[in-house]
Amino acid sequence: MNPKQIELIMAPPEPHFVGDGFRVHTFIPSSYRVDMHRTNPFIMMDYNSKHYFAPTDTPRGVGVHPHRGFETVTIAYKGKVAHHDSSGGGGVIAEGDVQWMTAASGVLHKEYHEESFSKEGGEFQMVQLWVNLPAKYKMSAPKYQAIANENMKRAVLPGSGESYVELIAGEFDGLIGPAQTFTPLHMSNSKLKRGDSVGYQFPASNSTCLVVVEGNVTVNEESVRQDHFCLFERKGEYFKIQAESDAVVLVLSGEPIAEPIAAHGPFVMNSREEIVQAFNDFNQGKFGTLAD
Ligand code: MN
Repeated sequence: MNPKQIELIMAPPEPHFVGDGFRVHTFIPSSYRVDMHRTNPFIMMDYNSKHYFAPTDTPRGVGVHPHRGFETVTIAYKGKVAHHDSSGGGGVIAEGDVQWMTAASGVLHKEYHEESFSKEGGEFQMVQLWVNLPAKYKMSAPKYQAIANENMKRAVLPGSGESYVELIAGEFDGLIGPAQTFTPLHMSNSKLKRGDSVGYQFPASNSTCLVVVEGNVTVNEESVRQDHFCLFERKGEYFKIQAESDAVVLVLSGEPIAEPIAAHGPFVMNSREEIVQAFNDFNQGKFGTLAD
């Protein structure tokens, strides 16, 4: 087994707003050697670094919009998000929870700060990922998984005894995470006390990356600071994260989907024809209905 080396460490790019509720740094795709193919099946990653939102009676967020051909996964670190979609899926996720929405053949959805959070205001921190689907599932039925923090699997790590891996999807140390996925992938948060460490092992050919959500860590021999993104080479199997302060690290690894990617706006398909079809279907109301 060989170490998996870091290919690049990226500081958070200039933030931009998605609607008025999500102030995000887009790590994937980025202009810096990180495109959808390089990180496939993780084809988009918006990181809302910790940001204070003032109280408001009108919840901030992003209104009704479509998706087709992939899954949207939202991980809440601070604050609360409410979600509704045209297939009837929906709910509220709070700190530590995950919503896993399979858009597949198509949904309309809207994503807002939850009402009581909006009224009180507060710190807000999220990751939204787009997880690609293989061609044979792109037109399957939409699905919604609400993954409460208490349903994630926990692997306690050696050291202080207070550090653990919180498993959302895939495998760690013989445990299997609660999220159902269409291709083999791993998603976890390592919640580490200062001085503790964790080792991760994945197939060399996987797309593997991490985000330091809280604190500062050393990955292999390199320092990776809060809010930074780290992409690993597609060789070697093993890396180690050591916490230099109390830290939370989102770790992603997945088998690349070896198919062409045709992406435009909210649609990610395999060909240009399928993108045109998605726009036609959307314009003809085939994504269902959802009130503003
Ligand atoms: Mn969306």
